[in-house]
Amino acid sequence: MELKELLDNARRNEALLKRLQAFELQLLSAQNWQDFLTLLLEALPSQFDLDAVGLKVCDPDGELKASMLQSLDIDQGVMLNQIEFKASLSIAKAGAINPPPPWKSALQLPLMRGGEYLGQLYMYSLQHDRFQEGMATDFMQHLAAVIAACLVMVKQTESQALLALTDPLTGAENRRGFERVYKREWARGQRQHHVFSMILMDIDHFKKVNDIHGHGTGDRALKALCKTLKNVIRPTDHLGRLGGEEFAVLLPGCQPDQLVTVSGRIQEAIREMVVLNDKQKQVPITASGSFISVTPRPHQNLQIEQVLDHLDKYLYQAKGNGRDQFINAST
Ligand code: GH3
Ligand code: MG
Ligand code: MG
Repeated sequence: MELKELLDNARRNEALLKRLQAFELQLLSAQNWQDFLTLLLEALPSQFDLDAVGLKVCDPDGELKASMLQSLDIDQGVMLNQIEFKASLSIAKAGAINPPPPWKSALQLPLMRGGEYLGQLYMYSLQHDRFQEGMATDFMQHLAAVIAACLVMVKQTESQALLALTDPLTGAENRRGFERVYKREWARGQRQHHVFSMILMDIDHFKKVNDIHGHGTGDRALKALCKTLKNVIRPTDHLGRLGGEEFAVLLPGCQPDQLVTVSGRIQEAIREMVVLNDKQKQVPITASGSFISVTPRPHQNLQIEQVLDHLDKYLYQAKGNGRDQFINAST
């Protein structure tokens, strides 16, 4: 190799190293999934002239995906399409690989942290010679080590944040968590002229369930209700426990006509729910509720309390009408 070529190479390496260091510093300051994934899936390809980045992660219990879904805005949720969540993954070696089309070359980097295998990062290029067998990958392996450390850190930070916003008994969002979601959806609706819907519900004669069957059965009913509701709604919908036996659902993008169907499904699913008392006898559970579609308008600021107060009036009406019914509060 000629001296000039060697010098050019050294300069290129130094420039790459500087860019990598700057990028790693940005990664280390990521506090949540949005920052972390935006850096990894958007900034990394643009700053390092890659055509795409892919990620495969070990997620045996689906916790990682759930944490990302919970924390990301629905618009950012599309980033998850670039991630494969795997129940198990065999350890891959760092180096160039034969990429799937349309890519012409690719680099595979294992993500390890403290002996734990977290997944694999892929860098894709449309140039044949971008990543070649036998090429030095030490810079990139360093980057992969930083990415792995950040992944673990962000996961911990996010799970702590989630804990503070989650109801421990049912796993639904607590009031604070639900209020946060409402604010986010309201702002998004205003930006994009999106409708969202809300359902408020309250278990019928729940005091009697506790009095007759005991608190343990009452708790089981609350858990069963949340499980049932989560099966009926979409993963991008939100379920909140607002108080003892009062729950709310927020459905982004749900139109008024769909809302009637969804609340009908919810009512049906609650009636069919299996809740057993301590003697293994079925305890019938019903709920009453009300629902509304909200279209955020510019320069308007409808607070969650106002929506809930409105829904509460109709919920009260449903109770007065004999319970086990959901009333349309959009009128
Ligand atoms: P209605 O049909 O009018 O809603 O009647 P209700 O009996 O459901 O209403 P009320 O508000 O009088 O009773 C709510 C009951 O919910 C009383 C309370 O003991 C019970 N509850 C609240 N939180 C919990 C909980 O975490 N576990 C259990 N088991 N019960 C709870
Ligand atoms: Mg009740
Ligand atoms: Mg109540």
